[in-house]
Amino acid sequence: MIHRFETIIVGSGGSGLYAALEASQRSQTAVLSKLFPVRSHTGAAQGGISAALGNVEEDKPEWHAFDTVKGGDYLVDQQAARILTDEAVQAVYDLENRGLPFNRTPEGRIDQRRFGGHTRNFGEAPVRRACYAADRTGHMILQTLYQQCIKNDVSFYDEFQVVDLILDDNRSNGVVAVELSTGELHIFAAKAVLFATGGFGRIFKITSNAHANTGDGPAICARRGIPLEDMEFFQFHPTGIKGLGILISEAVRGEGGILRDRDGKRFMEHYSPTLLDLAPRDIVSRSILTEIRAGKGIRGDRQIDDYIHLDATHLGKEVLRTKLPDITSFCQTYLGIDPAESPIPVLPTAHYAMGGIPTDDFGRVIKDDRGTIVEGLYAAGECACVSVHGANRLGTNSLLDLVVFGRRAGRHIGDYVKEVAVPSVSQDAADTASRWIEQLTDGQTGPHGGHIMEEMQTAMMENVGIYRNRQDMQAAMAQIQSLLERYQHVRVQDGSRVFNTDLLELIELRNLLDLSLLTAASALNRQESRGAHSREDFPDRDDDNWLKHSLAYLDNDTVRIGYKAVDTSIWEPKPRTY
Ligand SMILES: Cc1cc2nc3c(=O)[nH]c(=O)nc-3n(C[C@H](O)[C@H](O)[C@H](O)COP(=O)(O)OP(=O)(O)OC[C@H]3O[C@@H](n4cnc5c(N)ncnc54)[C@H](O)[C@@H]3O)c2cc1C
Repeated sequence: MIHRFETIIVGSGGSGLYAALEASQRSQTAVLSKLFPVRSHTGAAQGGISAALGNVEEDKPEWHAFDTVKGGDYLVDQQAARILTDEAVQAVYDLENRGLPFNRTPEGRIDQRRFGGHTRNFGEAPVRRACYAADRTGHMILQTLYQQCIKNDVSFYDEFQVVDLILDDNRSNGVVAVELSTGELHIFAAKAVLFATGGFGRIFKITSNAHANTGDGPAICARRGIPLEDMEFFQFHPTGIKGLGILISEAVRGEGGILRDRDGKRFMEHYSPTLLDLAPRDIVSRSILTEIRAGKGIRGDRQIDDYIHLDATHLGKEVLRTKLPDITSFCQTYLGIDPAESPIPVLPTAHYAMGGIPTDDFGRVIKDDRGTIVEGLYAAGECACVSVHGANRLGTNSLLDLVVFGRRAGRHIGDYVKEVAVPSVSQDAADTASRWIEQLTDGQTGPHGGHIMEEMQTAMMENVGIYRNRQDMQAAMAQIQSLLERYQHVRVQDGSRVFNTDLLELIELRNLLDLSLLTAASALNRQESRGAHSREDFPDRDDDNWLKHSLAYLDNDTVRIGYKAVDTSIWEPKPRTY
């Protein structure tokens, strides 16, 4: 079946919905989502969205931009960071005007709290910059945008999983999707396609990410010849629930929570004397591991699964009830403890992809180091790399990225589609997807996809995690390549067509394998330590050789690396201390 639209948005998280809202003002727009829209992972975002509103203390977009650049260890494109932080203020007020129920100050303004790496006056001291709706900020953004999309007659195709991009020469002509309820393949021809498919934390064993975060957009683009930018930079959030990875928001430390070792000592004062527990995430995660390796974890056995304590007992029940209610209930449900009375056992968890599909400031996809635009193809949100997060994202800057760049891309699409015709796409555009699905469902028996997934996640967690070295990463690459070979023989266990989640998971598995390979190869290639990429064999940042973005091209289960310049037009790189 062929559907024709002017604009197709793939994904209904914060970025997809904001882009759809804008694009639908001037074009016939449809949103395709493998999940029901308000189940998108944006709904899990807890702590807040940053903007220099200055509601509770002095703040400026310029300080916010500087923190973003420094937090990203100078791999951030600086003009893009200025756009992010300048447009943040209006973006937050737009959300408020559209109905988002932010927490309030006693005077009725949007309340703001502290978050890691956000400072006043270029690093002097922490600043209250995160706007929040209790610890359900993402949930509120998602609900607000979804109801606005419904009001504006955006068409939704819920539970349609996109499996391929239709590229003709250098132009995007649409996508191919499987309808979950029937197993049928649909072609969506469109003048413009925007990928907003979210992150891919599922390449790792312990992650804060949902099962659906399988990086479908970036993997589809990579298989169609588009390079992925800065894939070596994957953020580990310092405070996941020990053993599970479920996130305990940085908002707990923003409200005054403290990380403690086995003797109850606050150890962050050794690593970040100014920002303490609110240092950027890469620094806090490494500090936790360093403590554990020194025998100062709570068990003290130096094992990889030892942990430390996040102490929120001094915050009081009222703060926990009004500002951190979900966190309180997670602790009760998953740990059987009340955070007002007992410290929370935590360990870093794989959290956020700084890298992804390269785009310009309007969300247009770039396909090489010369900045060549792929006509009609856009990306926004966590699957994209603008790049405003560089080597390490600051907390609350992702929700901001979704609304600022989702909105900019949606507006650009609105103009673009007026200049071009709907492409003529025929049924054979689905041939590649169709052959793939036929192979997976041809009735032969093969290895179990679940085992391949488990081995991939363990290899990535153990060898391409917080601390990295050549030997481990080479081992990970070899293992992923052998898993890709095994994948060629994998087959569905469930032969039906209706809601065949087995088939859809095998498709997602291929996406994760491709992204694991690209991540490991990019990490092995970068011979320095910067932000979240920390190499034991190259412990220093090396601006002379590595102040550049990497572009990883997927080529028949091997990876070729190219480079792209970083925009450092505002601030000179400096040593990064806090
Ligand atoms: C637990 C947690 C807490 C967080 N807290 C914060 C916070 O407080 N502040 C902050 O700034 N950031 C936070 N983040 C990060 C932030 O929430 C995410 O980066 C962001 O929400 C991603 O939004 P998105 O629009 O890019 O994608 P998502 O919200 O993940 O949405 C992806 C969409 O793509 C669709 N999709 C995916 N693949 C396909 C396919 N093949 N076909 C069709 N549809 C597809 C899905 O159905 C979904 O609708 C948090 C992240 C986590 C995990």
